Amino acid sequence: MIPRIDSELCTGCGECVDACPGLVFTKSEEGVKVSYPEECIECRACEEVCPIEAVRLVDAG
Ligand code: SF4
Ligand code: SF4
Repeated sequence: MIPRIDSELCTGCGECVDACPGLVFTKSEEGVKVSYPEECIECRACEEVCPIEAVRLVDAG
């Protein structure tokens, strides 16, 4: 599983970036991106902290 962000919903708040124990997300002026999905340990912290359910784990394939 890897995280996927719905860019239509995401506000770029950065909560998932801070909650992730890995370095999966990066935040820039263009918003929050899933930059290193291979680092995901599937802890689901990002899903739990996102206030609007804009990030969720999906099958990598
Ligand atoms: S599931 Fe955990 S490790 Fe994977 S992206 Fe979300 S917070 Fe990071
Ligand atoms: S916590 Fe949700 S809304 Fe905030 S940056 Fe992450 S995906 Fe986007």
